[in-house]
Amino acid sequence: MPFYDLRCKECGEEFNTWASIQQRENKEIECPNCHSRELEPVFKNVNFIVSSKSYDSGSSCSSGCCGGSCGF
Ligand SMILES: [Zn+2]
Repeated sequence: MPFYDLRCKECGEEFNTWASIQQRENKEIECPNCHSRELEPVFKNVNFIVSSKSYDSGSSCSSGCCGGSCGF
């Protein structure tokens, strides 16, 4: 499973979670603070970008920045 850094659009809470891409796409991930499902990915460290190569399979993300979940 990919590891996500996410930020809640409702309350601004930032948190990390393991989830499948399907869970991410289906918005099955909830903010631990307010339980909103309106989340956006956070990219804030080099480790995330480097490690993303290892689970970037069948991605539509041209830059490989998120494992295909960001829509870029
Ligand atoms: Zn929240």
